[in-house]
Amino acid sequence: MTDQTTEQETEMSEHGPVPWAELATDPATIERYQAKLHHRGPDACAYWTGAISSSGHGKLRAGSRSSGSSRVVTAHVLGYVIAHGSAALSEGHVVRHVCDESSCQQPAHWIAGERVDNIRDYYARAHRAGHALGDVRGPDGRAVAIRDAILAAQATGADVEAAIAVAIAAGNPSGSVQDTLF
Ligand SMILES: [Zn+2]
Repeated sequence: MTDQTTEQETEMSEHGPVPWAELATDPATIERYQAKLHHRGPDACAYWTGAISSSGHGKLRAGSRSSGSSRVVTAHVLGYVIAHGSAALSEGHVVRHVCDESSCQQPAHWIAGERVDNIRDYYARAHRAGHALGDVRGPDGRAVAIRDAILAAQATGADVEAAIAVAIAAGNPSGSVQDTLF
């Protein structure tokens, strides 16, 4: 799993620890989150179409300035607490992607785990031909390419799925086929 940074656990941002319980139930935050999702069905990766961090994770500003809760958070962590409640996010745990797509917002592709699990998965999978973790652009380059392909296709009325396929293939110059993970 691509979460090699410490950004999830250390999201202190502007004003102390992230108030996940408040953010997870804030209607304006939920609306802003959902507006940046690209859904493709109940099992497929749901790509983030907003800001992407250097680690390939979706980012957005959550909360409200008037209540002092406004801060930039990691999109899939926010999505996790919206889906499962903030109590499901144990201290010291990260939200991992079983699909290894760092910008994916498909709840079925998330699992809470420990950092050591991420590292173990990374070394087990990164060498696989055509795998997301082997993308020559890195997780951020891959996530940005997929996002931009979706937005460009939507803007021009082109086939979004075809655009995603081209964007993914571009990170794998060897042409090998992506492994099936499930
Ligand atoms: Zn996924």
